[in-house]
Amino acid sequence: MKRTVLSVATVMLLSACGGDNVNNDNVTAEDSNNETNNEEHNNESNEPEEDYANEESEEADEMEETIDENEADEEAVEEEPEILYELHSDHTVRPIDEADEQVVLFTIDDAPDSHGVEMAEVLAELEVPAIFFVNGHFINDDVGAQELQAIYDLGFEIGNHSMTHPNFSQITEEEQYEEIVLLNDKIEEITGERPRFFRAPFGVNTDYSKQVVEDEGMQWMNWTYGYDYFAEYMEKDALAEIMVETELLRNGANLLMHDREFTKEALPDIVSGLREKGYDFVDPDTIQ
Ligand SMILES: [Zn+2]
Repeated sequence: MKRTVLSVATVMLLSACGGDNVNNDNVTAEDSNNETNNEEHNNESNEPEEDYANEESEEADEMEETIDENEADEEAVEEEPEILYELHSDHTVRPIDEADEQVVLFTIDDAPDSHGVEMAEVLAELEVPAIFFVNGHFINDDVGAQELQAIYDLGFEIGNHSMTHPNFSQITEEEQYEEIVLLNDKIEEITGERPRFFRAPFGVNTDYSKQVVEDEGMQWMNWTYGYDYFAEYMEKDALAEIMVETELLRNGANLLMHDREFTKEALPDIVSGLREKGYDFVDPDTIQ
């Protein structure tokens, strides 16, 4: 039953979007239309962007074995979180062994803008882990740095969403490098920890940016679905309903949300709606 639903959704996505990197042209065209920040993610359609080569999953498997071996040798200096999930090439999370498969991953982009800390407090209260994908321009001053620290201190994973939120297909390799690596440096300066995950603005990754991400020891992810960047869902109730009722909801789904007031207000209903449907929430610490 679930398989059927998943296949239908996949076919719909493919026919709607036509495959790899098809967004790039749209992004270029639409970017010149002077979008506001609220609309900046209109290009981020609900599609898996592209596949890793199969070798990479094999590599991941090998890495997993290495990690298992190392764990046996190491005295636990800090308690290492148990690795239960891996990031799949379609940006969903999948259980490695016996972990619960009916889960979703919460991700909050363009943080910490005006509502990031409050969103983190709401999620902490609801006991829902999440990744906050941070931009450099939000943490350039003391206030922003303190907000980042506050989100980190509440236990949330901090991801890299680039220094200035550019379209990576429109900047030089040197600029791509700085967008990723200098933000890692900055985040580490503040929290003491380098990000493990990267999400490209607009979901536009280049071969070069993927290489930088890999060299930095990070993984990149796009998302399964998100709605708070579409005008009709920029309201608490409409957003909460679609985030729970969308046919794109499935095991391991990677849910994209943003640092926005209406998204903050919708969080409790999104969480309770997903829980009512039997979904639990992946702790990013448990992703390999
Ligand atoms: Zn963004």
